Amino acid sequence: MAGSAKKAKAEAAVRATVRGRVQEVGFREATLGRARELGALGWVRNAEDGSVLIHAEGSQAAVDGLLAFLGDGPPGAAVDEVAVEPVKAEGHEQFAVRGVDAGVFVVQEHAATAHHFDLRLEVDGTMRSWAVPKGPSMDPAVKRLAVEVGDHDVSHNEFEGPTAGGGVIVWDRGGYEQGGRVAWPQALERGHAVFVLHGEKLRGGFALQRTRPGEKPQWLLIKRRDDEAQPGTDVVAEQPHSVLGGSTLEELIAAG
Ligand code: MN
Repeated sequence: MAGSAKKAKAEAAVRATVRGRVQEVGFREATLGRARELGALGWVRNAEDGSVLIHAEGSQAAVDGLLAFLGDGPPGAAVDEVAVEPVKAEGHEQFAVRGVDAGVFVVQEHAATAHHFDLRLEVDGTMRSWAVPKGPSMDPAVKRLAVEVGDHDVSHNEFEGPTAGGGVIVWDRGGYEQGGRVAWPQALERGHAVFVLHGEKLRGGFALQRTRPGEKPQWLLIKRRDDEAQPGTDVVAEQPHSVLGGSTLEELIAAG
């Protein structure tokens, strides 16, 4: 099946919890290296309780090989226990370290011809941008239209102030993690990108799903169902103030 885009179905998939002295010893990076040698797919992340979590899928040999590695870990680790449970394969196309900042994100509220919010994610040194007319939501039931617009320079992230036709405030900002089964930026090119925001207002997993390609690609911005989700809320209405200067966009324009 050479050249086929369809990947072979994973023969095996496991979730492993590695306990002992396993954080701060290069465990994630060593697991990533070994997984890539073996052709195992999935992810590794540090857990808050000091353990390391691994999702591994692929051929039985690749998964078994990675589990054997986890029993020892890298030099400097002291593994007390590896708890393994079989899980469903998730269709990963990479092995990645999760829970690591990929860069910054910013949401700027922008009064122009039309009022909107600009969501910007740092990807390869530039800010990929989407204009979100109604702004983001923390409610997983709400899908918000997000129109892809031109990249912005990272230096624009701190811009806040009146403009000729209105004004801009920094409505939220912070770091973010790239997630999902497909590596970035291919995930964006394919039109389905999952990420985790660590902002002051926006927190947890989000997805951007492209619904219409073309000159001005249209996407949906959706909060994922996780511990940070706030069903029934309207974060844009409830938290209108700038995280930079503290004023609302209306106040800023009135003062300008
Ligand atoms: Mn804008």
